[in-house]
Amino acid sequence: MRYKVEMDISGYIQQSTRSSQTLADAIAEGLRQAILAGALADGEVLRQADLAARFQVSRVPIREALLKLEGDGLVETRPRRGTVVTSLNAEDFQEILEMRLALEPLALGFAIERLTQDDLAAAGAILDEAEASLRRAATGMDETKAEFETRWGDGNWGFHRALYAACGKTRLLDTIENLNLLFARHLRMRLNIVAPALLSPPAGSGIQNTNEWTDVLREHRQILEACKNKDTEAAQALLKQHITQHGDELVRRFGGAHKSMLGKSDSGEAGEQLHAHHGS
Ligand SMILES: [Zn+2]
Repeated sequence: MRYKVEMDISGYIQQSTRSSQTLADAIAEGLRQAILAGALADGEVLRQADLAARFQVSRVPIREALLKLEGDGLVETRPRRGTVVTSLNAEDFQEILEMRLALEPLALGFAIERLTQDDLAAAGAILDEAEASLRRAATGMDETKAEFETRWGDGNWGFHRALYAACGKTRLLDTIENLNLLFARHLRMRLNIVAPALLSPPAGSGIQNTNEWTDVLREHRQILEACKNKDTEAAQALLKQHITQHGDELVRRFGGAHKSMLGKSDSGEAGEQLHAHHGS
């Protein structure tokens, strides 16, 4: 298990070395991806000497990389333990959700007037592909539900990014991307702990119920339509509802006592099956 984790991290580092500027940047980016992908778990200790030996570099770029990650909140320094991967609790998760709720409609508001036909077509193409993929998953022949969900996690963020990018505000976009990656990571970690079986259902088991995903994809269509019509108010309202609905459900299921942002009652149904809308 330990070996597997190390191999995973090396992969991330090697991938990132090609495109990054300095060695410290490359190591920071590789570790960042490993953390966000869940290859490094909550609370895992990152020792400078180990990392330096593993990647055959001095401690200097390692220390610099860890400082960058600490600045992003992905790792933290703890007395007597050193640098560890930050773990997020239900409260953190809710904070991320609330920030998404504030910042994503803001970005969309700036972006809408500037969205080109190409931008809209690119966002539409992501949905076309997801809908086709869902139809295949429903037959149970080519894709399992888990495979669809994994792929859609990327597709979902690709769709949202395609709409927000036109806002042209790099800090806002970087922050939103970071929040989405943290959100997805937290979800993955929680699912790994809470319901591993849901992540890897038996091969060949088709989707039992495609309704939940059909709903999610329809919400994206509605947001896209409002963007095409340059109806900022409607697009922002649909987006808020979309983020709230799925995030809220996750916070409620994971977090126990939670004041629903939709104002719904918080009576969680015990034993109800967890189904994750990776990415709302
Ligand atoms: Zn979405």
